[in-house]
Amino acid sequence: MPEKVLRELFFTECMVVKHMRVAVLCLFLLSVPFPLLPSQNPHSPIFNGSNAYEHLTAQTDFGPRPPGSDNLSLCRQYIVDTLETYNWTVTLQNFTYKDVDCVNIIGTWASEESSQYVFGAHYDTRPFADNDPDVNNRNEPVLGANDGASGVGVLLELAIALPIDIRSSVELVFFDAEDSGNIDGWDWIVGSTYYVDQLTPTRIDSINGMILVDMVGDANLRLPREGSSTQSLQDAVWDIATDLSHGDIFLEESGGSIIDDHRPFLLAGIPALDLIHTPFPWYWHTVEDTPDKCSAESLEVVGEVLEVFIVNQSTDFSTFTENGTFDVFLVALLVSPIVIVGIFILYRRK
Ligand SMILES: [Zn+2]
Repeated sequence: MPEKVLRELFFTECMVVKHMRVAVLCLFLLSVPFPLLPSQNPHSPIFNGSNAYEHLTAQTDFGPRPPGSDNLSLCRQYIVDTLETYNWTVTLQNFTYKDVDCVNIIGTWASEESSQYVFGAHYDTRPFADNDPDVNNRNEPVLGANDGASGVGVLLELAIALPIDIRSSVELVFFDAEDSGNIDGWDWIVGSTYYVDQLTPTRIDSINGMILVDMVGDANLRLPREGSSTQSLQDAVWDIATDLSHGDIFLEESGGSIIDDHRPFLLAGIPALDLIHTPFPWYWHTVEDTPDKCSAESLEVVGEVLEVFIVNQSTDFSTFTENGTFDVFLVALLVSPIVIVGIFILYRRK
């Protein structure tokens, strides 16, 4: 073989090796950004659990708060005053159920009614502690520190913790008449059912998701995945909880399906998620549901996750269906091998 040909062959080989190196480098550079994508949680939550706990005790200080009671009226005024202090617009949704005047409280930011998310909690408490082991206590009302006040405490602190520029994406709803089921012929979830019944089809379409907080204050809080919740919405919230190192509370286990205020939303076709402590704490529907069972730390964990959820949605909007979240990064990840192979082939042709 002539030296010239040999030299050319050697040169060609060198070029192939060089091209291969560049191609491998391209492959590496294109694949690296995915694991190194900026954290999904660049926002550092400012939700303050101590403030939420103060909202909790402010409610229990009124005493038990069953539907139609004076205590519940005082509690309602406290919620309204707090929201208005934080410059939220408050609408009272009055309705009557079995001759009892009931009121849902709706907080919107700057009169916006096009919010994509509804955060909900019930603010009434159970009229009787019918689960109390002591028969003598079963005619006593429940104080509802966890079952009622905890969810409200989280929503009231979110009202001030959410960044101002994205508050209009959330509507805060405080449901009446959730917790009197099977007493004197009452149903459960009466207030949330009424609320959803009043929504127009247009409004229903505009709600991207509903998140309910119910019994989220226990000092040893455990939140398994509630069984009837919209899974993609649940996944998004659980991902944030994991990123914030709250996987010890947002548990990767199923918690059964609960009849709760998220159900009317699900029935209306709105993605909905119930954050609820299960199995229910031992003091559930007893006279022992008192503030000493709850902690600021637990309220803070839940509040932080919801705060980051809304912030994330403002920058990386996802819609939630039963079939999973549309995730632009997932699509990019699936498409990227094709792009890489295409670049590789183009480069080889040169
Ligand atoms: Zn209850």
